[in-house]
Formats: sequence, structure tokens, C-alpha cells
Amino acid sequence: MKKHNFSAGPCILPQSVLKQAAEAVLNFNNDNLSLIEISHRSKPFVAVMEKARSLVLELLNLQNKGYTALFLQGGASMEFLMVPYNLLPSNGKATYLDTGTWSSKAIKEAKLLGNTEVIASSKDDGFKSIPKQYTIPEDATYFHCTSNNTIYGTQMKSFPKTNKITVCDMSSDIFSRELDFSQFDLIYAGAQKNMGPAGTTLVVVKESILGKTARQIPSMLDYQIHSAKDSMFNTPAVFPVYVSMLTLQWLKDLGGIKAIEKVNEAKAALLYNEIDSNALFEGYASKEDRSLMNVTFTLKDNSLQEKFDAAWKAAGINGLNGHRSIGGYRASMYNALPLESVQVLVTVMRNFNK
Ligand SMILES: *Cc1c(COP(=O)(O)O)cnc(C)c1O
Repeated sequence: MKKHNFSAGPCILPQSVLKQAAEAVLNFNNDNLSLIEISHRSKPFVAVMEKARSLVLELLNLQNKGYTALFLQGGASMEFLMVPYNLLPSNGKATYLDTGTWSSKAIKEAKLLGNTEVIASSKDDGFKSIPKQYTIPEDATYFHCTSNNTIYGTQMKSFPKTNKITVCDMSSDIFSRELDFSQFDLIYAGAQKNMGPAGTTLVVVKESILGKTARQIPSMLDYQIHSAKDSMFNTPAVFPVYVSMLTLQWLKDLGGIKAIEKVNEAKAALLYNEIDSNALFEGYASKEDRSLMNVTFTLKDNSLQEKFDAAWKAAGINGLNGHRSIGGYRASMYNALPLESVQVLVTVMRNFNK
């Protein structure tokens, strides 16, 4: 039987998607060739890329609004660099909200390219919360935030209203909840948290913000070049793009983000409720900033760890260990994780308390 997979990333994918993907590796499109041994310029693969890009814009409700969707490589970590490369002129100012490890890494790269200011940080409270009282300076070129903190289990519930270019790293919660995505000018996400296998990164960018810095941009880092070449400037990650396309189609068939958000809320409510009512456990993140995707918690009594680990492993649960930097437990409940898996975890926690 399939395990209950709470892995933080690479993540669980729908079983139907894995099946289709496995078939396509052997025989794609009934052409008696594998998906991964045909030209990325062949008609069937170009159709896959186009479908993936259009499903992204459709699901985010960003069609015909001046956005382009790109499937790039280098992970979300490459976007930490590409964002300032493409958006920050030499006399500009990049502003960042620091909500954890990933934001901090993005800040580090921006500093290589120019004036970078951290306008608020929750570092002092161990990144248990999201800063709320801050203003984006008038001279900011862009504002960058991380919508969901995968490691600490916090999530931004609202975003600042600003006329500045707004960039968001949505690696671990894209397609999980309804938002007005048009409030962002650039969204990026590594595929492997909530969309597909590792190896491709989604970038959704409003084309009108590009080409405004005088900087010479290396071709592979230039969003305008990737956009002009329809995300095929070089050989794209054909398999990850294909599986992402299947997952996006799966989500659309389910009823889109609106439908999956309800399931995600139900899963999170079930688990947080158990954490709050079970005397053995406590949540890590501040209640008001709790993530629907990555639920972080600890055992109050660490000496029970070995026993608890044995209990959830025996129940067929995988991937519950917290990030190595903070320890404890982390239940990642991405779109494809069924409610039943959360019920299994909650039952283990309840029985453990008895
Ligand atoms: C995992 C993660 C990243 C890093 O993604 P890579 O694709 O491994 O580079 C960046 N940001 C967030 C929010 C993440 O969860």
C-alpha cells in the first residue's frame, strides 16, 4: 500500500499523475517512443509545454493580463539571483521581508547585485511569526516576500498593498489557496513542493516590468529571452514539465484552486486541532501565522521521541521529521495529500496520548 507521504519536498503527487507519467516514459502519445527520448522541439512536446504554460495562467486567473509563464531550471534558488538581475538597476533599491531561511537566501543573492534592504524580519522570534508592521520605502524598486515558510511553518495571510513591483516566492504554497494573483508582478516556485518533480521552476511574470534595468544580463538568466523563446531557449526539463502539466490538469479537473483550498483547510484544521488539544504536543508557529501547507510541531517531552517515531512509521507515514535546522516534526500537506492521510496521523497522535 502507498505510504501516507508528508514529505516536505520533493512532494507527494497524485497517484493518477504518477501512473500517466510512468506510461509516458515507456510510450508517449502512442508513438512508441519515450517522452524523454524525443526532441523537445517535436510537436507533441511543444504541445505539452504550451499546455503547461496555459494551465498555469488559467488556474491563477492571470490570462490576458500581460503575464507569461515560464518553466526554467536551477530551482527556486536560481530565482533568488535572477530576480535582482532582471529587476534591480544600479541606482535601485531591492526591499525584502525576511521570514526565514528561504527569504534570507534570497536576500543574500540580491546583495550581490545592488542596494538591498531588509525592511522587516522575524528572525528574533525564531521565525515563528510573520512581521506585520512595516512600510515599503518610497524609493524601493521592488518588494520581495516568501508567501509560505516551508521550514518554520508560517504563511502570509495577507500581502502589503503597494504600487511597487511585488515579487513572491510561492514555492511551497502555489496553487494551494485562492489569492488575487494579479497583485504580484512576479511569482516563482520550484516545482517540487506542490506541482511536480524537482528539476523545473515556474516563473510567472508581468512582461511590462522586464527590460527596465541597463544591466547586461547573461542569456540564461534573462527572463525576456526565455519569454521570447516560449520557455524553450535551451532544452527544457521535459519530464518535470510534463508531470507538472499533468498535475495542473488534475487540479483543474478537481475544480481548480477554489476546490483544493477547501480540502487544504480541512486537513490543516484537523491536524492543528489535534496539536492544540493533545497534551503531548505543541505547535511551533504563532497561531495567527500558521501555514496550511507545512504544519510544524514538537513533543513537549523529548524522551518520547523514539516511541512516537516508531508509532507513526508503523502506521505507514513517511516524511514527518522536521527540517534539520529546527528539528521536531513537520507535516507537509500539499495538494495531493488526501485527507485520509491526515486522519491516520491524527489517530496515531491520539492513540499515543492514551
Ligand atoms: C524549497 C524552497 C526553495 C528552494 O527551492 P529549490 O528548488 O531547491 O532551489 C525556495 N523557497 C521556498 C519557499 C522553498 O520552500
